[in-house]
Amino acid sequence: MLTRRRALLAGAVSLGAAGVAAACTPGTGNRAATAPPPAAGARAARRPLKPSEYRLRPLTGYGPPRTAPGGTPVRREPLLRVSGRGRTMVLTFDDGPDPRYTPHILDTLARYEVRAMFFVCGEMASYNRDLVSRMADEGHVVGNHTWSHPLLTRLRRSRIRSEMERTSDVVEKACGDRPEWFRAPYGAWNRAAFQLGAELGMEPLAWTVDTLDWTEPGTRTIVGRVEDGAAPGVVVLSHDAGGDRSQSVRALRSYLPELLDSGYHVTVPRRQYV
Ligand SMILES: [Zn+2]
Repeated sequence: MLTRRRALLAGAVSLGAAGVAAACTPGTGNRAATAPPPAAGARAARRPLKPSEYRLRPLTGYGPPRTAPGGTPVRREPLLRVSGRGRTMVLTFDDGPDPRYTPHILDTLARYEVRAMFFVCGEMASYNRDLVSRMADEGHVVGNHTWSHPLLTRLRRSRIRSEMERTSDVVEKACGDRPEWFRAPYGAWNRAAFQLGAELGMEPLAWTVDTLDWTEPGTRTIVGRVEDGAAPGVVVLSHDAGGDRSQSVRALRSYLPELLDSGYHVTVPRRQYV
């Protein structure tokens, strides 16, 4: 397993300082910044929210990007895509792990020897540590998606920190490493999320293509959204928890071989350290 994992790691796509500027093109798909967020997850907010609540809050001041202790840059917006050579794409699965769906997704990824990213919720991870451990063992990247999937823009800084820290703790217990990537629930980022994420050594990753699989639009629709959105550098958002995700499971079985047949290299981004 270790040998396989190392071989897989060698294939990781580069996403470092050089790639970040290109990767940060604003407005190229972070729909949650302008549209109502997906109500993914059993913990989804019920009340409609004002559009202003999803806007990225600009940081005050100018000058070179600041760096948090430990060397992770403090960003002003999340990364929306990855840079890499050739036709590279990244698949991400949020809100899990869920024992009803995550194992099937892992099985499909293993069948095609493809690595993906799982942005887990700490609460789910604490109940399913074996699945978090399996993700890491099979070479996938385990990211931090907060403990209870709250809307961060409504929380005090101390609560945001707790949501992020507890999740990193449980991931570390399950697989030995702390997450290096963070994704805000509903794509609702704010300055505190960027700052705290950087302090905890995590880069913020959003997405380019939203499958909207949480609306259960039908397997064929999900497949179509992935295939229509396929392009070099694209990050795809799907869910492996938060409701009935059987369509997401079936869709992956269909679009993954199609992407590979089309010449896409489906992999995970690699952090680069200064
Ligand atoms: Zn989510």
